[in-house]
This record gives sequence, structure tokens and C-alpha cells, in this order.
Amino acid sequence: MSVSPSYEELKGYVDSIRVVDTHEHLSQEPERLKQKVDLLATFFSHYASSDLRSAGMPEEQLIEIRDPSTPLEERWGVFEPWWEKIRNTGYARALEIAVRDLYGVDGIGPDTYGRLSEEMRQRNVEGLYRWVLKDGSGIDVSINDTIVYDVDREFFAPVRRFGEFLTVRDRTGLEALGRQVGGPIHSFRSMVSALRSEFERTSGKIVGVKIGLAYTRPIHFEKASFSEAEEAFNGLYRAERFKVHDTSEVWKIVPEPVGVDLRPMQDYLVHVMMEEVERRELPVQIHTGLQEGNENILSNSNPELLVNLFMEYKDARFDIFHGSWPYSGELGALAKNFPNVYIDMCWMHIISPSGSRRILSEWLDEVPANKIMGFGGDYLFVEGVYGHSVIARENIARVLAEKVDDGDYTMAQAKKYASWLLRENALRLFFPDGL
Ligand SMILES: [Zn+2]
Repeated sequence: MSVSPSYEELKGYVDSIRVVDTHEHLSQEPERLKQKVDLLATFFSHYASSDLRSAGMPEEQLIEIRDPSTPLEERWGVFEPWWEKIRNTGYARALEIAVRDLYGVDGIGPDTYGRLSEEMRQRNVEGLYRWVLKDGSGIDVSINDTIVYDVDREFFAPVRRFGEFLTVRDRTGLEALGRQVGGPIHSFRSMVSALRSEFERTSGKIVGVKIGLAYTRPIHFEKASFSEAEEAFNGLYRAERFKVHDTSEVWKIVPEPVGVDLRPMQDYLVHVMMEEVERRELPVQIHTGLQEGNENILSNSNPELLVNLFMEYKDARFDIFHGSWPYSGELGALAKNFPNVYIDMCWMHIISPSGSRRILSEWLDEVPANKIMGFGGDYLFVEGVYGHSVIARENIARVLAEKVDDGDYTMAQAKKYASWLLRENALRLFFPDGL
């Protein structure tokens, strides 16, 4: 790395910024403390595990290495050859930074994995989150995307997905939804009013709404008519086939709608949600770009598919996730074009650390600096948040230092943008009344 005087000074400043983290999937600390933690079961629950799969590791081996009931030495033997193949990626780098800084272990290797897992167990006690998130990562608050809204406000502010409405696929799903909202749902009309009441009931407890549909369908949400949506809803009841739901706990048959296109129903519900968020001044976070896991359809998540929403809901604020990686050029143009479109770099610095620097540098030349959110860890376990935060701070300092070296910004300007990226922009968007 080229080290310039501007880098040293900026890095020191960037490291001192208390971060507002725009996106996590963390369980509450008491839940985490109940888990049996070790290197493989905990750190390979997502991200790096997807790299293991894309490197060629068979699915059965991935399941095997995560199972804490098998002795760690045995699992390490299966894991090690694949680890060597993925150790180059941003996901692996975030983990190695975390184990080095948090647990004092020099990387993940044959000589360290035992001690590391022991250190993890010893630290898995009350105070873990304070130690990792507040002290280690310098995070003031993390916007958290889980099914729990009653969160520990010392660490979290929740967003809500309303996924129980958007992902209903069959009658049993509708029955479950009915139980949750306090009464059975027999018509699309009552589903819509239940969605509106859920907004009424929870909007004061959340700082935004999340839409994660890019995992299961294209994110173009057409303006469906009520009757088209109702037709799709009614299709849920037309199922004449059943699938057998057979687990050790319960045996039952579940209706399986065949050939029912649920998109008009989802489209309609997304527009209802947009109406509600616009009216209630809640920002909406939308997944775009790469989907976590393997073998999804990337083009479903192109941010250009959202343009009709940007045009229609002018008073809504769209927080577009993951820098739309790899559609980052498209997202830059959209954020430049639409006053209601914001860029969110959550997850991005570890998908590609160097790619994120290149793109952030371009965005800073292209998009007003008040519109870029520079960090969201996007992890299920806190150690990952720490590793990611180190890479993000380094990336932001390096990109801004280069601009200072090139004579594009003064040092004072660069420092101002650093604090906007890591804190102020997210505060303005999600916490207009302060933390
Ligand atoms: Zn996420």
C-alpha cells in the first residue's frame, strides 16, 4: 500500500469516528450466549461458507464442518484443504482480521484453530456485544434486520420486513399470518387491511422497512390492480395437490399451489407498503445486487428494476443496499438522478475490498456526498462485524487520502466526508431526532 502523509492523518481520523451501522442480522446477546460457539460452527454460518461452496466444497461437507457435535479436529481435516482455496477473498480476510484483533490468534490455520475456538468459548459471556461492537468496532448503533423488534436499544434499532405478508406461498402460510395478526385472513381485502394495521401497530418501534424480495423474484414491482392481486390470492385456495411435511416433530400434508403466479399479489402489497412508508416518513432499505448463498439469479436484483417506485414515491427515501454490487455503476447513475435514492455500502467492503475502493472513488466524483452510507456489517455474528468494520475504515481512508493527494479535496473536506459516510448520513436518514 502506498503510504502518504494524507493517509496517516486521515486513517487516524477515520478510526476515531463513532459509526452508525446501517445493517446487521444479529441475534440479541442472550441468544448468542446460548449457542455452542467454535470457529467452524460460528464463522462459517454464512459468507465464507458460500465461498467454500463456490470453490467446490460439496454441500454435505459444509453441513458436516458446521456440526458442533462432531469433534473439531475431525471437522478441521475436512475444512482445511478448502480453506486454503478461499483464503484470498474479502470474506476470509474479514474473519482473519477478527481472530487476530479480538482473540489474539495469528490467522486461521492448523496451529491456531483449537486455541481460537477455546478463546471464543471463554468470551461467549455477558459483555461480548459491548466488547466487540462498542469498544472494538466503534459502533454507536446498528440497524438490525431480524424478526425481533423488541431489541436491546443499547446496541440496536430495528427495521421490519413484513415478510410474513410478502412471502406467503400457500394456505398454511396464510393461516400462520392470521394467527400472528390476531384473526384469520380469508380475502385479499382483509390481507391488505391486516398489513396496514401492522404498520399502525409497529411503525413507532422501527426506524425503517426492509424489502428482501430480490432473493426470490425480480424486483420490478408493477402497478397491479386490486382484482389481479385478488385473483393471485384466490389461487392460493385452488390447490388440489399436497406435499407431505414430514419431520420428527410433526407429520402433516400441506396444500401446494401449482401454477399460481403470486407476483401481482406481491406487487400490490409492495405498493401498499410504499404508500405507508411514504406517509409515515420511514426510509425503505431494499436488497439489490449479489444474493448471499450460491446459484441465485443475479439479474433479478438490478436496481434499474426499481425505477417505477423511485418515480412514483417521490417523498419516500430509498436506501439501496450493497451498492447494488456488481450493478454499482447503474446505482451511481440512479443516485445522481433521483433525489430520493441513497447508496448503502453495507456488505460491500468484504464482497470485494479493492472493488469497493474503486467504486467509492467513482461515486465520490459523481454523487452528492450526503447520499452515500459507508458501512453496514451485514453479519449474523458480531466478530464478522468487527472484521468488516476494519476493512471499511481502511477503504474509506485510502480513497479519501487519494483524493487529497490528487488535489481534489482539502484535508478538511476529506475528514468531513469521512464522518458523513460512516455516521452523519445514516443519522440524517434513520435518526432525524438524534440517537
Ligand atoms: Zn443483510
